[in-house]
Amino acid sequence: MNLDRLGEFGLIARLASHIPHRSRRVVKGIGDDCAVYSQPGGNYMVVTADALIESVHFDLNTTTPEQLGWKTVAVNASDVAAMGAIPRFAVLTLGIPKTTKVNFLDRLYKGLGRACEAFGLDLIGGDTVSTPEHWMLSLTMFGETHKKRLFTRQGARPGDAILVTGTVGDSALGLQILQSPGKKWAGSATDRQHLVKRHLEPNARVKEAAKLAKSQWRVTSMIDVSDGLGQDLGHILTASGTGAELWESALPLSKPFEKMCIKNGLEAGELALRGGEDYELLFTLKSEDVKKLLGSFIKYGTPVTQIGEITARQGVTWVRKNGTRQILRKPAGFNHFKEND
Ligand code: ADP
Ligand code: MG
Repeated sequence: MNLDRLGEFGLIARLASHIPHRSRRVVKGIGDDCAVYSQPGGNYMVVTADALIESVHFDLNTTTPEQLGWKTVAVNASDVAAMGAIPRFAVLTLGIPKTTKVNFLDRLYKGLGRACEAFGLDLIGGDTVSTPEHWMLSLTMFGETHKKRLFTRQGARPGDAILVTGTVGDSALGLQILQSPGKKWAGSATDRQHLVKRHLEPNARVKEAAKLAKSQWRVTSMIDVSDGLGQDLGHILTASGTGAELWESALPLSKPFEKMCIKNGLEAGELALRGGEDYELLFTLKSEDVKKLLGSFIKYGTPVTQIGEITARQGVTWVRKNGTRQILRKPAGFNHFKEND
């Protein structure tokens, strides 16, 4: 059987069936943003690994070594944050093509160092090997959380509000711009640069996750938006056994994104729904807590927006701007091994 029949998530589920957990300290195994295990003292450790492969995840013609270093740390810190945890330590495995210059590695580590500082963690080890052709960076990150404030993909209940930090869609449009160097894009260069930067130097919502974890607000589930808003919401719904209503008119879109969509005839809502790599936090919350949380985040300076509601009815109802209701049968977003539709 070929891998495309299983897809990325089918493959992971199949692999998981071969390796049952032996330790009772495993709180969460395969299937969330991080694995979680309990510490003798009562706190939880979370662990995540994310690999970046040249030509799949990045293109050295369009990214600088500093940006690559930054992004490698940021995407993992985002997974740690998605559990409500604080990133602490990381180990990095590098697969380096033999033709690489030392200066490139110095610059890569400058970017890595900056991100470690920004997200408050230490790089404490790793491995270095050479590869025949392409770059590979595989980072494993460890974080900590209090056991009462672990947020997973499971726990969303009908009536809960769906919220997201920041804006969605920028990174996907930034990638489209990078991948079409010959295209004449309407709109300003500043807007284009903003979107491209969001793709190449994503932020991880580490501080915001810590704020949520410290609060009393009843967060019922959380994930980070890496594969696309629709697909990542789908992961919460599958894990929680619920459905959702998603409101197109409420999606938080940046001004540069909106302007570029209008000027270039792109469907902003569709792009924001399917686009990946925003690295924003997507979470569900008891509806009674929404007002207090939104008020507090306005003061904090990070936009948070309610974009829908969890429903008992399965599937995602995509409520379009014009009021029509569409049932999204398949979560839309990125999947290794499958053609993306
Ligand atoms: P994310 O997009 O949040 O990084 P992934 O979709 O990459 O999450 O992974 C989903 C889950 O599958 C995670 O729990 C991850 O640890 C697990 N996983 C992925 N690949 C493997 C593998 N080869 N072996 C075991 N577990 C895996
Ligand atoms: Mg994730």
